[in-house]
Amino acid sequence: MRKYIVGNWKMNGTSADLHEIAAIATMAAAYPSVDSAICIPATLIERAAAALPEFSIGGQDCHATASGAHTGCVAAAMLVDAGARVTIIGHSERRAAQHETDADIRGKAEAARIEGLNVIVCVGETLQERDAGRALEIVLGQLQHSLPANSSADWLSIAYEPVWAIGTGRIPEEKDVREMHAAIREQLVGRFGETGKKFRLLYGGSMNGENATMLLAIPDVDGGLIGGASLSAAKFEPILAAAANSGE
Ligand code: PEP
Repeated sequence: MRKYIVGNWKMNGTSADLHEIAAIATMAAAYPSVDSAICIPATLIERAAAALPEFSIGGQDCHATASGAHTGCVAAAMLVDAGARVTIIGHSERRAAQHETDADIRGKAEAARIEGLNVIVCVGETLQERDAGRALEIVLGQLQHSLPANSSADWLSIAYEPVWAIGTGRIPEEKDVREMHAAIREQLVGRFGETGKKFRLLYGGSMNGENATMLLAIPDVDGGLIGGASLSAAKFEPILAAAANSGE
């Protein structure tokens, strides 16, 4: 399976940073065996996509409905219109701060799909949940209820992101990532049959140039969702290199 490395710029970036997105796109082109994308603020998508037609630019959310009275929200068709090819849905920061439920996330993923976007659905447990021995139950529950019934590996990937690893510099032990990704895979195969083997499962949470080789070598880790280390080409490059060298 080709590795998929996706950057998440979160609420960072203005027009002054378009040159860095261009630098990332240029650098990513040097790793043709790896699929990559950068999910940037909605305000930058149109300019970045127009300037970088070969590179996959993405959004970080979309609304579950096509249009209407939803002040401040962005519809999937608007992302497509601006040039996005992919969007993150259900990031833990949105689950927590915007109180997004699994049902909300499922609706958003369906809306994104209808407009032809690729989708990355995020799941992940809090530290409290892990410490209570509930990590598998929480993540598998999120997975069960966040994925649309017609999910297909052609357009949907899953990012396992332990909440306590995001932006903290901490990562789980290798065995815990292995266990979680195997459990996610098992559920996907149980639900979708053979096609369940084809979904790309990304790991996210403090992935960087130092730990990417180890993380990307874990079975069923088919890529990464990267926050902080995607903000510059210099930090993103070693992750792409690790993916290119991972041999799968
Ligand atoms: C993220 O925001 O999805 C993420 C994984 O962030 P970081 O790499 O900074 O932990």
